[in-house]
Amino acid sequence: MDHFEYRDGVLHAEDVPLPAIAQAVGTPVYVYARATLTRHARVFRDALAVLPRVKIAFAVKSNPNLAVLRVLAAEGYGADVVSGGELERALAAGMAADGIVFSGVGKTEAEMRRALEAGIGQFNLESEEEGLELAALGASMGTVAPAALRVNPDVDAGTHGKISTGKAENKFGVPFDRAGAIYARLAETPGIAMRGLALHIGSQLAKLEPLEQAFTKVGGLMRAIRAAGHAVTHMDLGGGVGVPYREGEVFPQPADYAAMVERVTRDWDVTLMFEPGRVITGNTGVLVTRVVRVKEGASHPWVVVDAAMNDLARPALYDAWHDFAAVTPDGERFTANIVGPICESSDTFAMARDIDRVTRGDLAVFRTAGAYGATMANTYNSRPLVPEVMVDEGRWAVVADRIDPATILAAERVPDFLKG
Ligand code: PLP
Repeated sequence: MDHFEYRDGVLHAEDVPLPAIAQAVGTPVYVYARATLTRHARVFRDALAVLPRVKIAFAVKSNPNLAVLRVLAAEGYGADVVSGGELERALAAGMAADGIVFSGVGKTEAEMRRALEAGIGQFNLESEEEGLELAALGASMGTVAPAALRVNPDVDAGTHGKISTGKAENKFGVPFDRAGAIYARLAETPGIAMRGLALHIGSQLAKLEPLEQAFTKVGGLMRAIRAAGHAVTHMDLGGGVGVPYREGEVFPQPADYAAMVERVTRDWDVTLMFEPGRVITGNTGVLVTRVVRVKEGASHPWVVVDAAMNDLARPALYDAWHDFAAVTPDGERFTANIVGPICESSDTFAMARDIDRVTRGDLAVFRTAGAYGATMANTYNSRPLVPEVMVDEGRWAVVADRIDPATILAAERVPDFLKG
């Protein structure tokens, strides 16, 4: 149930027909259903209620739109941020500073300083070096930085290689066999307060087994660290729970995930932290696009749409699948390739796919575009930056403007030495 449904043959977002938004805002445009966002936030949070002490930090990278963050803040979510920009967004959305976790392998001194000034809840350290820098900064500012050590458990998440983060060859976290010693050294360093371990093995996980394996492994490390005399009060289990992108796919439900976590962590006696992204926002959004024309092809017609890889990068980046559907289908189907206008062959959304028959001027959607969609958009080929709309029952609002090429051009300069 994602609140994008046909009524009288027209695809709606909640109570709003998508053609009304396309007409007013133009295409391509991302459309989010607030009801879906709220529902997913609650289902995930309520599933975790089987655990004694829980904090949820929404992975801002999956959808950093201010309105989206505002909805999640109202549902009691904190934020997992990976840059100074995301930190400012989370604060601007009203998320409590102590509910913010700062992840990421390349935090700069300026970003760490700002986060310390804001009083965030936890830094997830990616290395001993980073921990020592943060400690020195904390001490110089007369404060103590709350921190967890991100461990690389060397577990195969079984997802696409480019979104796999928990294998030894990935850049994330400290090597598992060195984590205990690093934790011990950082725990004795002034300016920093080590309170736990963190892990995140990858995104779009289709199975719970790799997560269970990683949690079990890191649970053992937690026990060893405690046995060495150090406190562990928080364990951050990251994000990664996948969502179905293709009609008919079956994925673990939040309740299955929570039951697995409960089983593994029963005797941990910690506050458990989670960083869900996709599972909250994936199905809350569609990308609405218009068919520019249908061009004859060698074996299948090319459906050229006005959305491109700069608006929705996942297919080009990860060979990702997004269901494609006409906004006003006529019941006929055909097999076609779906492509955008960008001058790269990677600007391909689907090849030889059985889809609703569409023709020049028709509106269509790429489904499940609420996570890692607009947030990855760019202006390649001097295209506009795609706008975003949020629907709430029968009303809707633009929550991010389309940024026109003229605005981008106005920020560029021809230096004096080229004038003349
Ligand atoms: N936490 C960290 C550290 C991440 O890098 C990511 C994304 O890759 C997430 C959480 C969110 O992952 P997902 O959207 O798969 O839940």
